[in-house]
Amino acid sequence: MDKIHMVDLHSQYLRIKPEIDEAIQQVLTSTAFIQGPEVNTFAQSLSSYLGGTFVIPCANGTDALQVAMMALDLKPGDEIILPVHTYVATGEVIALLGLTPVFIDVRKDTFNIDTALLESKVTTKTKAIVPVHLYGQCADMESILTFAKNHNLYVIEDVAQALSATYTFTDGTTKKAGTMGTIGTTSFFPSKNLGCYGDGGAIFTNDKALAEKIKMISNHGQRVKYHHEVIGVNSRLDTLQAAILNVKLKYLDEYTRKRNEVARYYDAALTSIKSIAIPYRAANTTHVFHQYTIQVKDGLRDKLKTHLESHGIPTMIYYPVPLHLQNAYKRPGFGEGTFPITEELSKEVLSLPIHTEMKEQELEYITATLKSFFHG
Ligand SMILES: *Cc1c(COP(=O)(O)O)cnc(C)c1O
Repeated sequence: MDKIHMVDLHSQYLRIKPEIDEAIQQVLTSTAFIQGPEVNTFAQSLSSYLGGTFVIPCANGTDALQVAMMALDLKPGDEIILPVHTYVATGEVIALLGLTPVFIDVRKDTFNIDTALLESKVTTKTKAIVPVHLYGQCADMESILTFAKNHNLYVIEDVAQALSATYTFTDGTTKKAGTMGTIGTTSFFPSKNLGCYGDGGAIFTNDKALAEKIKMISNHGQRVKYHHEVIGVNSRLDTLQAAILNVKLKYLDEYTRKRNEVARYYDAALTSIKSIAIPYRAANTTHVFHQYTIQVKDGLRDKLKTHLESHGIPTMIYYPVPLHLQNAYKRPGFGEGTFPITEELSKEVLSLPIHTEMKEQELEYITATLKSFFHG
């Protein structure tokens, strides 16, 4: 058996190599490396895929969050509610813009923002909520949007891990992740569900005026070259990356199906192990399994990780240190016990290999090795 990977980008590339190589070659020949036609083609294709929302490509998922917040004119002192169990980027841009991050704990089952706690976090300074659709399924958007509406807050969906997931509201309407809030942001980091071959990101909104402002901010605050209306940033998607994404977007639904097959295999094999909680499927949302993340009880997580590693099986912990315990984000009053669920998750979560190229033989081996740890 070949080496097992968390993500196998090489095999995935080989399956679509002729198309990718041709797309890259075309950009090399045109030399339109910045804002070449492929960027707009990709924005249009992704827009149709998402159901018609405006799509503004940018340089990465972190910039996407930053530009989103700049476009909403959020000012120092404004409070932004975000889950404390998330990738650092979400909190980073809030702090970088001088805004005040207000952490909120997550639900132990879904790993997403606990909407029952929102009321306790909102003040007169609260301006926005940033739900992160962690590991690939949507946060409880119906509650979040209702809460935001009642309190006049913006909603910025961080879709970096859940592009292509869908959410169904109680009235029956179904929407794609990233198109429900005021703004959606995503990342095309190579290992994401739709990944390019470098850094990339995009911003979504259904509001045309806001879309124009986002586009302007991401390109030095200019609509017309050398005429700067507002302070902006340099955050554009490279033409080469757009050309690659144009090819890969066609396969996104197939990739999502494959990830779900892998997840179902793991579910069936692991559900009977009493020290393991398999991923919970929340109501109203599909899951696109950016990560297949189990919870390992009884203090066995790190021992299991070592056991798997010694058998050639890589695993990852997303995330080992919660944001409120990180040196950069510590505040008076933050300590052990401030966000109990997130702290518990940091000690129990374990993400298993999941990608579009996984073979049944690998899954058999991984699950057999897991079982052997618990059953001897
Ligand atoms: C990957 C990720 C980001 C940042 O994306 P980059 O393209 O790496 O900047 C932001 N939020 C979440 C939840 C992510 O997983």
